[in-house]
This record gives sequence, structure tokens and C-alpha cells, in this order.
Amino acid sequence: MDSQLFQSLILNTSDVVIMTDATPYDAGGPRIVYVNPAFERLMGYSADEVLGKSPRFLNGPDTDRHTRQRIRRALRDGKEIRTEILKYCKDGQTRWLDINIVPLRDAGGQITHFASIERDLTRYKKIERQLANMALFDSLTGTLNRQAFYQHAEKEFARSKRYYRPLSVIMLDIDHFKRINDQYGHHGGDQVLQIFAEACQEVIRSTDVMGRVGGEEFAMLLPDTPMKSAFNLAERLRARINKYPYLAGDMLIDVTASLGVAECQPDDADFKALLQRADDALYRAKHAGRNQVKIAA
Ligand code: GH3
Ligand code: MG
Ligand code: MG
Repeated sequence: MDSQLFQSLILNTSDVVIMTDATPYDAGGPRIVYVNPAFERLMGYSADEVLGKSPRFLNGPDTDRHTRQRIRRALRDGKEIRTEILKYCKDGQTRWLDINIVPLRDAGGQITHFASIERDLTRYKKIERQLANMALFDSLTGTLNRQAFYQHAEKEFARSKRYYRPLSVIMLDIDHFKRINDQYGHHGGDQVLQIFAEACQEVIRSTDVMGRVGGEEFAMLLPDTPMKSAFNLAERLRARINKYPYLAGDMLIDVTASLGVAECQPDDADFKALLQRADDALYRAKHAGRNQVKIAA
């Protein structure tokens, strides 16, 4: 194929093409000798602005250090590398790029240049992050979903056993939630669940973790927390839940919850055993008249 055709390919492709010389990797990095129009469009720099600079100037604070090191090592060793990296545009916006850097050799086998072909992954990265979040968080309340909560709790349970640290759990269940649904509709109920989660998150510490383990049932995992502090926290939660303003539309809804508290004991075989004791305490709180806290036997 003639070189005119190759040139036309590089000028017209939507993939970014950057070429650098192969000289000193350590003194500021190899210098850019060519960028194609796709580079100018994506990154916002004109060719004139980047020629002579190292592609490293497109890195920024959130560019992964480990990835940068891998790229440097590959260039030093004259190897091809393909990876994903975050780069910074002229206007400060970031782009995720799939980059593929290949060494170019002369007739004698000496590397004279590196060529990088890059594709914008920003859109896919965003979807990837959304999917990862969807797998962990309950979309209505923003708390951990049941599965993610259990996974996290099992780890904390093992940690507390290994280091002989206290660990407590609080189970919460909204009182007469069926009535709320009946009176304000399913949408009103959903709003109450959102506000409920928000009220609880305001009370707990950043190390405490809240999960939605059932429709209107939540659990709090409290690392490094003995029963006495867990009970105090549960009381604060109960009070906050009760006096928090629950507005569905312009209606103020009265909400209470029942809570059961348990602290990890030596004969709790796994996290489920601990959670079961908190659940039993919750059951007693319901039977004792609701809107109260009970501790596990
Ligand atoms: P109590 O716990 O005080 O004994 O009474 P309750 O009325 O809350 O009892 P129950 O646990 O039987 O009812 C829970 C209701 O929560 C039943 C279900 O329709 C409703 N629910 C479950 N998930 C959701 C949800 O995501 N949104 C709404 N709006 N309602 C839900
Ligand atoms: Mg329930
Ligand atoms: Mg309930």
C-alpha cells in the first residue's frame, strides 16, 4: 500500500495517534514528534502546543502511579504495552484512554520511536462504575444492599475474632410500615424509606456500615463497639427516626422503628449467629409495643 493511503488513515481515524522519539526516558520522558487530528480534537491541544513535550504532561493528580510506572518500564525495556490510563485535556477535563504503545525500529533493529494508538473509554468507564455501584448499593436508599452488607459483615466478623475486638450489630425494622404504604401509597412508602436511611446515616459514625437487609429492615454494623455504646447509639437512632420530618409530598408522616442490638460473643460461630440474636431482640421490641430498643440475651 502506498504511504499516501497510510497517511490518510492516520489523518481520518477517530483513534488518537501519538508518536514520540525514543530518547531519554528519564530526563523528562520521550518527546512528541507527531499527533494526529483525533488527538487534537479529543485532548483540546493543537499539535504545535504539544510537539517537543513528553506525553507525561497529559497526566494529572488522578492518573494512576502504578500504571505510569508500568508504562515507563515497558518503554525502558523496549516492549509493547497496552493499558488503560486517565489523561487530562487542555480544559482540565479528564479522559479514560485505552492506550497501546509500540516501539518502532529501524532497519538495524534499533528503536527510534514509540507510537501510541489510543481510544477514548470515558463513556464505558462511567458505565463500568455505575454497574459496580449497582452491584453494591441499594438504588432506593443508597445503603449497601443485602449481599454487599453480608459480605462486608463477614469480613468484619473475622477481623473482630482475630484481633479480639468488640463488634456489635443493630437490626432496625420500621413499625407498621404496611399502614404507611396503605395510607400514602407505595411511592409515599418509598419516600419514607429514603428519608429513614438519611436520618440513620446522620447518626452513625463513618466506620459504621448500614445495609438494607429487607424491604423495610436495615442493619447497622458497628466495628470496635461494645454493647453499651451500641445500645446508646440505638437509642439515639430510635429518637432521631421518631422526630425526623418525613414529608411525602406535603404530608408529614409519623414514623417509628423497633431496634434489636447484639454484641459478638465467643460462641457466635459466624456473622449470621450474631445477626440472629439482634433479630430476636428486635422481635421482642416489636412485642413490647414497638418504638423501642431491646438488647440480645
Ligand atoms: P411491624 O414491622 O411493625 O410488625 O409492621 P409492618 O407493617 O412494618 O410489617 P411487615 O414487615 O409485615 O411489612 C412490611 C411491608 O413493607 C410489607 C411490604 O409491602 C412493604 N415493603 C417492602 N419493601 C418495600 C419497598 O421497597 N417500598 C415500599 N413502599 N414498601 C415496601
Ligand atoms: Mg419487616
Ligand atoms: Mg415493619
